[in-house]
Order: sequence, then structure tokens, then C-alpha cells
Amino acid sequence: MISVTDDALPELVDAHCHVDLYGKDEAAVIEQIEHQRVHTIAVTNAPSVFFHTRDKARGRTYLHPAVGLHPELVPSHGHELELMWPHLAETRFVGEIGLDYVTSDRELRQRQREVFSQILTRCAERGCHVLTIHSRRSASDVVAAIGDSFPGTVILHWFSGTTRELERAVNAGCWFSVNPAMLRSAGGIQAVQRMPRDRVLTETDGPFAKMAGRACWPQDCSQALVGIARAWGMQPDEVRSAIAANFKRAVEIGSP
Ligand code: MN
Repeated sequence: MISVTDDALPELVDAHCHVDLYGKDEAAVIEQIEHQRVHTIAVTNAPSVFFHTRDKARGRTYLHPAVGLHPELVPSHGHELELMWPHLAETRFVGEIGLDYVTSDRELRQRQREVFSQILTRCAERGCHVLTIHSRRSASDVVAAIGDSFPGTVILHWFSGTTRELERAVNAGCWFSVNPAMLRSAGGIQAVQRMPRDRVLTETDGPFAKMAGRACWPQDCSQALVGIARAWGMQPDEVRSAIAANFKRAVEIGSP
């Protein structure tokens, strides 16, 4: 069993969590992140709310604030895109960004692609970012937009594309963050088995992702470790060490 209170164990990793959306539990979530040593990429959904998480992260070791513009919020918050650029100098973490093709509206998909492409261009110019990317029903276009020589670390969060799309993403150099929900389906387990083990991280996507009828908290990424261990035929503590080492490399790759 994994004991997360043991300081001798490697750090945990939650590469995609909406820390600012836990309401009254936010302070307790941040305490858990520091106390349980969970390196957490705290994604945000619009540039205008980034400052909140940035300020909470001051003086903390494990809370990494990310500036983002969620594809589903492009209609309501797309006009905030310009607000994002100054923040790219304040944090190396970017997300949640990407494409979401649940909408079949062609114009909306086009607008999402424009926003995503502008963000990628700005990040590539600075060349020192770690990106956490949403690709629901849009993996092919997401991977095409990233290209195969993006100067930074690109993490596809909660990947749910086809085997072919996964292959393309792997060839493009993408990383993957895996959550407990993905490991509950046969397709998700197969995808995890095909991911390069040196480019996999854990995540929760809390509070949106649920476990046992409640919102996932960052420490629940340890459940993803258990599922990945099963998928890879390894011990959970071996996977824990591998993911901690992967996170350090993921962050280094993004450095200037
Ligand atoms: Mn998310």
C-alpha cells in the first residue's frame, strides 16, 4: 500500500488539477498539496482568473500555477486572449488549453483553433513552457497544431483518442497525464500500455473527475499510480518513482 505521509517516498504528481474550483475546500486542497508533497499543475480556465492561483502559490513548493484558456470557454472568454501574454513571463506552466470537438459548430471549432494556435505560437517564441492540453474528440487536430518540434513539454491530459492518434502524438514527442477514471475502461488501459513509460505523468482533473461519488483531490493521483502499475505489470512504488522522475524531466525540458 502506498503511504503518502512517508517523507522517504518520492513526491506525487498531479499534472492537471483545477485547484481554484474547489469552492470552500480550496484552502484544504492547497494544504494537502504541500503536506503530502504532490507536485500539482494548477490549471486555470481563463486569463482573468490566473492571478488568484498565482497569488495562492507564492511561497509554496508544490503548487504550480498555470495560465490557460479552456476551449469550451472560447465563446465567453476568448476576448481575454491578450491578457494571457504577460502571464507567460510569470509562469512556465500553461493550461488548460486545447480543442474540444463536442461542439459540431464549425465556426466555433475554427475559433478554438485560432485561439489555440495563437497560444502555441506565443509559447514557442518563449520556448520554456510546460503545456497541459485538452483534446476531446480533437486529438488529430491538436497534434497537427503542435507539430513535431515544439520547444517545450506538451502534455496531453486525459487522452481519449484512437490508437492511430496516440501513435501520432507519441511520434510528435507528446507526454500524457493519466487519471484514475481513464484506468476504469479497457480502452484507457490499452492506451496507457502503449504510452512511452518515460513520458507518462499522473493527474486527477479534480474537482471535475470523481472517485467513489466525490470529487478527486490531488492526493488521489496515487490511485492512478495503482492503475498504471497494473497496466504495466509493475509495483505501485516503482511507478511512483518513475512518475516523480518523469515530472522532473518534464519540467527541465521546458526550461530555457
Ligand atoms: Mn480539466
